[in-house]
Amino acid sequence: MEEARIKIRIRCRQCGEKFVLRGRRDKGQINTGFKQCLCSNIDDFEIEENL
Ligand SMILES: [Zn+2]
Repeated sequence: MEEARIKIRIRCRQCGEKFVLRGRRDKGQINTGFKQCLCSNIDDFEIEENL
């Protein structure tokens, strides 16, 4: 099992708000616990991973 702590940058495509979160990669999927933007956008984001 591969699991690593990573830093994620999320930018909302609706309002441009940016978030920096810590997440973890689990079997190729990134989990951050991030639910939604302040503007209620839940699925239109640019996600950037910083190892
Ligand atoms: Zn937003």
